[in-house]
Amino acid sequence: MNDTAVVAVVLAAAAGLAAGRAWAAARRRDDAAAGAFRLLPHYGQGLQYLATGERELALSAFEKVAREEPQAFDIQLVLGHLWREAGQVERAMQVHQALVARLDLSRSQRAQARVALGQDQRAAGFIDRASSTFEEVLDGDPKNLQALEGLQKVHEDQRRWREAYDIQVRRQRLRKSDDSLVLGFLRAEIGREALAGGLVDEAGSAFEAALKLDRRVFPAYLGLADLALASDPQRAVAVLGEAIAAAPERAYLTFERLARAWAACGAPGRFGDLCDELIRGDPRDWRARVALARQRRAAAQPEEALGLLLRALSENPQVLLVHMEIWRTLRSLGAEDQNVARYGAACEEAVFYRDPHVCTSCRYRADDMLWRCPQCHSWNSFVEERVSPGADR
Ligand SMILES: [Zn+2]
Repeated sequence: MNDTAVVAVVLAAAAGLAAGRAWAAARRRDDAAAGAFRLLPHYGQGLQYLATGERELALSAFEKVAREEPQAFDIQLVLGHLWREAGQVERAMQVHQALVARLDLSRSQRAQARVALGQDQRAAGFIDRASSTFEEVLDGDPKNLQALEGLQKVHEDQRRWREAYDIQVRRQRLRKSDDSLVLGFLRAEIGREALAGGLVDEAGSAFEAALKLDRRVFPAYLGLADLALASDPQRAVAVLGEAIAAAPERAYLTFERLARAWAACGAPGRFGDLCDELIRGDPRDWRARVALARQRRAAAQPEEALGLLLRALSENPQVLLVHMEIWRTLRSLGAEDQNVARYGAACEEAVFYRDPHVCTSCRYRADDMLWRCPQCHSWNSFVEERVSPGADR
C-alpha cells in the first residue's frame, strides 16, 4: 500500500466514511498543480488529528490550510464533511454550496461537491432537496456510486422500499458485488408494508423472495408466519422452526408467534417443550424461561411461573425483564400490598430500556429488535445487549 492509500484508509476509519471516501476520490486525481497545500505543515497535522480521532483539532488545522490555500478544492470538501460530522450541518452546507457555485471545477469535482451537498441536506432533514441534488448528479453521471448511495438512503429514510431496492440492484451491478442480504431485507420491508396494507398475496411473495435472496432475513420468516397463523397454524409452526434453524440466536423473536401457533394447533404444550429444550441446551436462556413463565401464569399456574423466574433470576440477575416478570407474577399470587404496587409501577415507568438491543456497528441502543439501524443505516446489525452479572457471583 502506498502513502496515499494508507491516508485514505486512515481517514475512512477515523473521520467517518464520508470524509475518508471524499478524500480518497480527491487523491485519485493526483492533480499536482492544485496540490500545493499538501506541503503546508498544518495539513500534516490535520491528517494526524484525523487519524487519532481528534476532530476538533483536525478541523482547526484544516481551517488554517484553507486560509493559506483558499482555492484548494480537496480541503474545502473535507472541511465540509467534518463540519457535518461535528453536527454543524448549516456550516457544512455553506462550504459545499460555495464549492458547487465555483466555475473553475472539473466535472468530477462538481459532482463530488454536489454529492456532499446532498449529504448535508439529508442530514439537515431537507429530504426533497437532497433527493433532487442526488438526482441532478445522476442525470449527468448515472453511474455515480456516491449519489446512488445517498439517494438510496433518502428512500430508506422515507420507507420507500421499492425505490431503495431498485437502487441497491443498480449499485451492486456497478460494483460487481453481491450483497443479497441487504436486498433480502429490503424485500422483507416491501412485504411488511404489503401485509400492513392487507395485500396478502403480495406480502407472501415478497417474503418468499426475501428468503430466496438470503436465508438469514429473519423478518421474512416472521411475516410468513403472520400470514399463515390464522388459516394454517401448522405452516406457521414450520416456518418459525426454519427461522430458528437459520438464526438460533434470534429464536426468542419467534416465541410469541410460536406460542399462538401451537395453541391454534390444539397443542399448547408443544411450545413448553420447545422452551424446555432451549433451556436444557443453554441454562442461561432466560428468554425461554420468561416465555414459559408467562404461559404458566396465563394458565393460572403462578407458582410454577415464579419457580421458573427465580431460576432465571439466579442465572441472569442483571436482566430487568426478569425482575418485571417476577413483580407481575407476585401480583397474580396476591402477594402485594399498596406499597409493593407503587414500587412496581415506579420501576416500570422509570425504565428507559427494559429490553435493550444494540447496533453492533455504531452502538445505537433501542428497546426492540430493529432490522435497520436508524443511526448508521446498517441492516441486521442489532443484537441483544448482554450485560455480564457482577464479578463476585
Ligand atoms: Zn448502527
